[in-house]
Amino acid sequence: MRKRIDKCPHCGSDWGVFTKMTLINVPKNYNFDGSEGHNGEMYDNAENIIDKPTVYCQRCGKAICRWDKFCAANDIIPF
Ligand SMILES: [Zn+2]
Repeated sequence: MRKRIDKCPHCGSDWGVFTKMTLINVPKNYNFDGSEGHNGEMYDNAENIIDKPTVYCQRCGKAICRWDKFCAANDIIPF
């Protein structure tokens, strides 16, 4: 039986995780003063995800595991 990854192995937090995905052809919007603009639809235009991202803890920011391992352990369908 697979062991679910339900908390951070580093700090024990179950706040959640985040990934840093590498996307290609994703327009990122900036304003003329250099601040970030409206990026609400940026992922609609993503053509592909390059390599599998790493899953990080939202609390301590440390890497937990690869996204595909996280999905397999928690029965998530990878996108
Ligand atoms: Zn953590």
